[in-house]
Amino acid sequence: MTAPPNARSANGGAATPSQPSSRRDKRRWSLPAAPGPTLRQRIERREREIGLRCSDVSCGLGPSDEDPVPVVDVSSLRQISIRPLKDHGEGDRVCEHTFHPSCLVSAERVAGWGQEDKKDDRDEEVEVSCPVCRAVGSISREDWEEGACALA
Ligand SMILES: [Zn+2]
Ligand SMILES: [Zn+2]
Repeated sequence: MTAPPNARSANGGAATPSQPSSRRDKRRWSLPAAPGPTLRQRIERREREIGLRCSDVSCGLGPSDEDPVPVVDVSSLRQISIRPLKDHGEGDRVCEHTFHPSCLVSAERVAGWGQEDKKDDRDEEVEVSCPVCRAVGSISREDWEEGACALA
C-alpha cells in the first residue's frame, strides 16, 4: 500500500499578502473651539437684561425656541427678589437674583419649599430658597399667592 503523495502542498501559498495596517485614520477628531458663552447663553443673558427672563434657569415666561414670541407681555411682569428672614435682617434681599413670582413658586415646589400645607394666616412670609444660589430667605404671602395663581 503506497499512500498517495499530498499534492496540495505545492500551491504557492502567497495568496494573502500581509498588509500593514496603513488604513489608520490620522485625522484627529477635535472639539470645535468654543471659548466664551454659546449663542444660547448670550441670547438668554440679553433676555435677562431686558427683563424678559428671570434668574430661574427654567424660566417659563421668556421666549422659547418653539414660541419665539412670548405669549404674555413679560416685560410688564414684576420680578421679585428673596428677602432675608426676619432673624437675619440685613439688606432687603438675600442675593442678586430676581424671579417672576410664578417661576419662583414653581422652582420652590420642585425643591420642596414653600410650606403650602401651613394654613397659618398669621404667617405672612413664605420661606424659600433661591433656586440659583440656594440662599434662604422669604417672600411675602402675597407674592407666593400671585405666583401660585399664575401657575394654576
Ligand atoms: Zn421667570
Ligand atoms: Zn440667588
